[in-house]
Amino acid sequence: MSFAALGLSAPLLKAINKQGYNTPTPIQSQAIPAVLDGSDVMAAAQTGTGKTAGFTLPLLELLSQGELAKPSQVRCLILTPTRELAAQVGESIAAYGQNLPLRSTVVFGGVKINPQIALLHRGVDILVATPGRLLDLYNQKALKFNQLEILVLDEADRMLDMGFINDIKKVLKVLPKQRQNLLFSATFSNDIRDLAKGLVHNPVEISVTPRNATANTVKQWIHCVDKKEKGDLLVQLIKDNQWKQVLVFTRTKHGANKLTKQLNEKGITAAAIHGNKSQGARTKALAEFKQNVTRVLVATDIAARGLDIEQLPQVVNFELPNVAEDYVHRIGRTGRAGATGNAVSLVAADEVDQLIAIERLIKQVLERRHMDGFEANHIVPVTTLDSRPMKNKPKNASGANSSSRSNAPRSSSNKGRGRGGNGSNLPTQNKPSRNSTNNTNKKPTASTPKDGLRSQPMSPKRRPNG
Ligand code: AMP
Repeated sequence: MSFAALGLSAPLLKAINKQGYNTPTPIQSQAIPAVLDGSDVMAAAQTGTGKTAGFTLPLLELLSQGELAKPSQVRCLILTPTRELAAQVGESIAAYGQNLPLRSTVVFGGVKINPQIALLHRGVDILVATPGRLLDLYNQKALKFNQLEILVLDEADRMLDMGFINDIKKVLKVLPKQRQNLLFSATFSNDIRDLAKGLVHNPVEISVTPRNATANTVKQWIHCVDKKEKGDLLVQLIKDNQWKQVLVFTRTKHGANKLTKQLNEKGITAAAIHGNKSQGARTKALAEFKQNVTRVLVATDIAARGLDIEQLPQVVNFELPNVAEDYVHRIGRTGRAGATGNAVSLVAADEVDQLIAIERLIKQVLERRHMDGFEANHIVPVTTLDSRPMKNKPKNASGANSSSRSNAPRSSSNKGRGRGGNGSNLPTQNKPSRNSTNNTNKKPTASTPKDGLRSQPMSPKRRPNG
């Protein structure tokens, strides 16, 4: 299937070609015709599936056929949970729409509002916004929705997680009833379905990844390690494997700062990205990471959400997330659009419960690996995947050999079907290996847009989310 066969016109095909995309991803081949058809769409798709192009390409096509935005009017509103995601969606729109006469802009909090008001005054065909700042602008009468045709909620699950539900409801109230609605979410929880009820009408439902599945292009494993050894183990992993570009997740901002300092002291260039950093510092850290000036980017979950980093081969969970779903989001940074990636988790004694929750969520027992000199004083048991109480749970911690042993899954759900019999890529004979990671990355390239579409992203400054 080609992009041309999906019904996109020459200016968009030219831009797609410039991005180096040859074939639509599954979400694109399903979403593009549905959106072009004027249908409401409800799509379950993680980042990394090509979802952004899945909605931006057809909406650019639709908008290019209508009347351009009049002063202060917005024809298409895209809501995103974070500033980073807003900026990335804005970049995609600028890249794909570079041959079209449409105007787009991105607005989010933490930067001055007056320049945004001035830009909106002319009217924009596409506005990408975080909910808080959008409401501020609306309340200041900086924009009007009489001409609104399309509403997109991107990463709706995260918007609810971040407490934006009331803001979203307020926005919905001021939009015209007659419009096309597109709802994108990594997962469809009951909360999302509730939200969808009042939003989409007879939607085309699309799901490109099973709920909470992790991309099978990502190789995942864990190291059991004592908490205080984690920093040294990470340094060792980076050096031994010669990892050039590593995204590392910590649970806290303080933890991110501390680890960044430790890595820099060991001669590994690292920068932190989290909510306490100014927007300028975050943008700089991300840019330097993308340009391989910085080898390690240490991020908290919210800061990292939706970051689109080209060709990212390596994700490390320095600490496991408290919410198991965040594991899926985190490792969605790698193995994108068909590329291969590695996701490594460092698991301390007090993180075993989180690990069990994660393995049950993704229905996969992660390979346990061992690194000489970093033997843990705890055992990470093999998780049973069926949510029943664990059998054979070790009662005590007994040192190096236990933690280094290859733990093939023995879940009751696998009984009678052999190892890995549930169809997932369960590890079987997982030999401890120091250098067995594979950094080859075949990800298709997509250049960052420099021009196009009269796009006017706001210059970022300080303060977390808008
Ligand atoms: P997304 O899921 O929207 O965050 O996109 C993930 C990555 O896939 C981005 O880097 C896109 O540039 C890239 N991408 C999107 N569509 C395609 C495609 N059809 N072929 C190759 N790469 C793509």
